[in-house]
Amino acid sequence: MPGRVWFVGAGPGDPDLITVKGRDLLAQAGAILFAGSLVDRTATRFAPPDCVIRDSKDMTLEEMTAWLIEQCGRCETVVRLQTGDPGLYGALIEMTRPLTAAGIEWQVVPGVSSAMAAAAAAAETLTLPEVTQTVILTRVAGRTPMPPGEDLESLAAHKTTLCIFLSITLLHDVQQALRAAGWDEDAPILVVQKASWPGAEKIIRGTLADIKKKCQAEKIGSQAMIIASPTLGAADWPDLARSKLYDPTFTHRFRKAAANE
Ligand code: SAH
Repeated sequence: MPGRVWFVGAGPGDPDLITVKGRDLLAQAGAILFAGSLVDRTATRFAPPDCVIRDSKDMTLEEMTAWLIEQCGRCETVVRLQTGDPGLYGALIEMTRPLTAAGIEWQVVPGVSSAMAAAAAAAETLTLPEVTQTVILTRVAGRTPMPPGEDLESLAAHKTTLCIFLSITLLHDVQQALRAAGWDEDAPILVVQKASWPGAEKIIRGTLADIKKKCQAEKIGSQAMIIASPTLGAADWPDLARSKLYDPTFTHRFRKAAANE
């Protein structure tokens, strides 16, 4: 009976941000392949002592899938530990297709994405009633081109929350796209580097005009999430539309509206 491969989201950096299900799978794993460039080795601390642990940093995709298939020959639970959530910029399907072709079963365990961790680190919300109810997770073109219609300028035209991955070295392109889409120079922009990493997290708050200079001054060149959103800074706004869910005059499935409010 060959083993099964679990693609587990390790979370954004803090080893405590893995899910309970992910932790339990690590605890019973016979082999773990972790993405060492983005996942700290401490993430594997839940593994049993006899578990074979391998960093995939220097491996090609073919080598990784071959390793996973080989491990499935000798143990029941094989974990591929990925940063954040495996479904976001994680080459998931490229890795699973060879497994399926080899007759190996696989499953995905979601993880806390760095987009969520960055918002949490800065104590910001990504949605607000009557401000924006939409979050776009995207990137700008690097070596990977953007499909037609997904250039940042077009997406930014919606004036929703934008969580921009893999783009910190292309901050200039991000600025250009937001400007072209009509965002103000004083629109707030948040950059969080190493969100949730113990002792390493950096939070940079700026505007469309000055965010690049601020990031340069702080030497932010990798592992950073850019969030552009009309919700940023809402904790300090004088007026806020209320969320209907907690509005005393609003009845829903779990609560009746108060009679006089
Ligand atoms: N699957 C991951 C994303 C992998 S792509 C997720 O769900 O988070 C790698 C990009 O994610 C980086 O370029 C950076 O933009 C972002 N990223 C990953 N970890 C991060 C962290 N701890 N803090 C900020 N950004 C991070």
